[in-house]
Amino acid sequence: MKKMQHHPDSDTLASFAAGTLTLSQAMCVSAHVEHCPECRANLAALERLGGQLMDRLSPRQGSESLKEKVFAQLDDLPQSTVTVSKKQNVEGVPRCLKQFVSEDYSTLAWKRISPSIHSVELCRDVNGAKVELLRIKPGGSAATHTHIGEEMTVILQGSFSDEEGIYREGDFISRDARHKHTPVATKDKVCLCLVVTEGPVQFTGFFSRLLNPILRKSYAPA
Ligand SMILES: [Zn+2]
Repeated sequence: MKKMQHHPDSDTLASFAAGTLTLSQAMCVSAHVEHCPECRANLAALERLGGQLMDRLSPRQGSESLKEKVFAQLDDLPQSTVTVSKKQNVEGVPRCLKQFVSEDYSTLAWKRISPSIHSVELCRDVNGAKVELLRIKPGGSAATHTHIGEEMTVILQGSFSDEEGIYREGDFISRDARHKHTPVATKDKVCLCLVVTEGPVQFTGFFSRLLNPILRKSYAPA
């Protein structure tokens, strides 16, 4: 695999280490960190530092690692259309997604969003953020859009590009309302992404007035 170019920023990684990210955001960071030796090393350093600070401030309570806490909390999330799997050995699936993916990605209940995009909602965070997988056909494109709230994306398979660059397997991308972008999957492979959105996307192109009310409706939890 080529060296990863896109990582969580240092604030996000520090918040992950401190356990202050929302659970859905922690899932994205965790999926990236599993792919990324550089962030694993930075995280280990942050955890060591955090441990030393905690030792100085008060006696340490228990030794449960942050990651174990994240995985334990996943059990409490409201599940969507996906059957929760007890199988924990699904190959190539990040550990934080294994409970949602029983066989492989192809067996999930994919819904068609557009001719080139399918999605499956995995769960909702307690703050309402939507955790979903997106599957984009080779060369397929999403309409130009911006975001209400933050959007975090981790590429699980394939690659895509937008106005700001090209993103490959394992890359971590964070976007908010300041960004307007048009993601396009590369032509050689299906692109599969883990996406967490705090609010519905807002399309900015010609069809926006038609699509935005529909998307706001579909964003509301079922
Ligand atoms: Zn990284």
